[in-house]
Amino acid sequence: MRLEAVELRRVRLPFHVPFRSALAETSVREVVLVRVVTDAGEGWGECAALSHPDYTSEYVDGAAAVLRSHLVPLLARAGPPSATGVAPALAGIRGHRMAKAALEMAVLDAELRAEGRSLAARLGATRTWVEAGVAVGIPTSVAELLDDVGAALDEGYRRVKLKIAPGWDVEPVRAVRERFGDGVLLQADANGAYRLDDAAALAALDPFHLALLEQPLPPGDLVGHAELGRRVRTPVCLDESVTSADSAATAVALGAASVVNVKPGRVGGYLEAVRVHDVCRAAGVGVWCGGMFESGLARSANLALAALPGFTLPGDVSPPSRYLAADLVAPPVARDGRLAVPDRPGIGADVDAGALRRATVSVERVALAP
Ligand code: MG
Repeated sequence: MRLEAVELRRVRLPFHVPFRSALAETSVREVVLVRVVTDAGEGWGECAALSHPDYTSEYVDGAAAVLRSHLVPLLARAGPPSATGVAPALAGIRGHRMAKAALEMAVLDAELRAEGRSLAARLGATRTWVEAGVAVGIPTSVAELLDDVGAALDEGYRRVKLKIAPGWDVEPVRAVRERFGDGVLLQADANGAYRLDDAAALAALDPFHLALLEQPLPPGDLVGHAELGRRVRTPVCLDESVTSADSAATAVALGAASVVNVKPGRVGGYLEAVRVHDVCRAAGVGVWCGGMFESGLARSANLALAALPGFTLPGDVSPPSRYLAADLVAPPVARDGRLAVPDRPGIGADVDAGALRRATVSVERVALAP
């Protein structure tokens, strides 16, 4: 495959409900898309980075900048691209995993389309459908939370994830349990908002039989997570802490994780995500596929990953129509909380030209040589 051109495209997809993060409230999901053009066809990648560098250090402007100035020229200099060659070609640049993942995803898409092979087959998926859960943000009241959870369960979703934070933990979890019963698969995500000193507050969640407690402590505190795991009965799950298969192996060796949330962007791409899966599976640590408010492009690809055998818990792989008012592809469809794994050649979805045009803010062709 010869690399002929790389295009960076900025698109904007409106949220149904504005998304609040530490830095800002945003009403639109800004996305950086990567399109690679090769002599064997084209491929698309989607960058997971959000608008602001608060949930992760990466953000859309930064991702576009590092792709334009560093990653794309470096890949172009490395010779004919192959999906397995992208990460090694970019290894000289530290971090920027979401930007790297987007570029690898585009090359992977082009390669799979040329081979007539699906991403599910390429990654080693063993199921043709996956179960989806939904994540519910922190609302303004318990009543609103109960409405949100009830709506998700009415739609047939099998698992609900509640966001928690100091001061918003036991009360909402108890309220959901009391209203919807013990049969609901329930988990909580703290996005690193607690400290080990808060272990007693987190142990207070034990009676509610959560499937897992996700990222209770800051990402760097693996030792703290291991200690916390000895003080609470709820299985501890890592999200932000795991940025590669190596870091997953470290976390598992320390006993810092009973479960791992795998997000392809966070770990540098789908191929590394499979390696994270492999490390965890070998150690008996379950994994599930997380979400980053992706468009249907990346969500479709995530379905293939979520169909690997170690993905034993429902993922945040619900259709983007749950949170976005527009999409770039024909949306994956959920039935009773289950989604079919795409089996078409490539990453699993075709960009709709009209939808893409309507969502596009800017397009640039990246110079392949400095
Ligand atoms: Mg999380």
